[in-house]
Amino acid sequence: MTDTAADVSRWIHAFQAEIAEHRVRLTELDAAIGDADHGTNMDRGMRAVVAKLDDAGVGVDIGSLFKTVGMTLVSSVGGASGPLYGTLFLRMATAAAGLTELNGDGWASAWDAGVAGVQARGKAEIGDKTMVDALVPASAAFAAAVGRGGSSAEAWHAAAVAARAGVKSTVPMVARKGRASYLGERSAGHQDPGATSTYLLIECGAEVLGGVARADRERGTATESVST
Ligand SMILES: [Mg+2]
Repeated sequence: MTDTAADVSRWIHAFQAEIAEHRVRLTELDAAIGDADHGTNMDRGMRAVVAKLDDAGVGVDIGSLFKTVGMTLVSSVGGASGPLYGTLFLRMATAAAGLTELNGDGWASAWDAGVAGVQARGKAEIGDKTMVDALVPASAAFAAAVGRGGSSAEAWHAAAVAARAGVKSTVPMVARKGRASYLGERSAGHQDPGATSTYLLIECGAEVLGGVARADRERGTATESVST
């Protein structure tokens, strides 16, 4: 796999469209265990991101592109999601600094750096019912597939499958981080909104960068299957 800044930009645009499509659902998920703003916050943030990218034009430096995404999310998304998604992309920016192409190892390094940043910032581990529950297994699955010499499609497919399983795993969890943790046991039985938007991010990568057909990934089920 070798992706250019233009490819990465297509992924970001696809994520913006995906967030817009699932905005209401994400806010409903947040209404159950949070403050009912995840969909509107992420929608506002990603609209700002694509406006910024469209204004600036896509350069050749993938690190700079990720930095623009991260900075814009930090400044335009409220709550915990702005700093966390911003950190994800800012750390990916550092890992991809000066690169005009990302190969499998480059992507794996970027994901690893981004995930480490999110965990350091949010102090969340697997099982805390946060975006980490989708992000960590997805990143690990991606790296494992690259390590086996897998193709772009195989790596993204593995990441999307892992992210989807991660989202579903949040349903029975009792939240230990963020606003949902105030609910204690009452947070159980609800799908985490941050893990859900993270799943959508990975899913868009699988589709746009991995070329994985929608049917292969049972598109949308992670946002629709929640039992509330
Ligand atoms: Mg919220």
